[in-house]
Amino acid sequence: MSKTGSCLCGAVKYRVKSEVSRAGACHCGMCRKWSGGIFLAFQVAPGDVDFEGKENIACYASSDWAERGFCRNCGSSLFYRVTAGGPHQGQYHLGMGTLDEPDGVALTSEIFTDQKPDGYRFAGDLPGMTGAEVIAMFAPDSE
Ligand SMILES: [Zn+2]
Ligand SMILES: [Zn+2]
Repeated sequence: MSKTGSCLCGAVKYRVKSEVSRAGACHCGMCRKWSGGIFLAFQVAPGDVDFEGKENIACYASSDWAERGFCRNCGSSLFYRVTAGGPHQGQYHLGMGTLDEPDGVALTSEIFTDQKPDGYRFAGDLPGMTGAEVIAMFAPDSE
């Protein structure tokens, strides 16, 4: 079953063709500022998402290897997208909070665990990666 989602105002809508069953949390300082909280996201290959209202998406290049898409009209954080070359290029990490029906999507991992504020944590014992481990995976040439 394909999942649909949108920004807060509805100017940007999307449909994911692949299965959406798992999501991850990113605790990095950039995701925290950008999302205003904890960024929960699910991965989608570039060809597996169709956007409607694409002209309403603005992108901010937050680093040399990724950009962040948001709605020009309402400011909703929509996706993190890898721009660096390599096997992850073009991959979307769509915000779980933008899904119309987020039920049934399980939180299965946490990244940048070393940057998580000490005032909260998720229940359970999820597999985690530190920031250095994540950067080595997405942008091996950046250091
Ligand atoms: Zn919007
Ligand atoms: Zn992050």
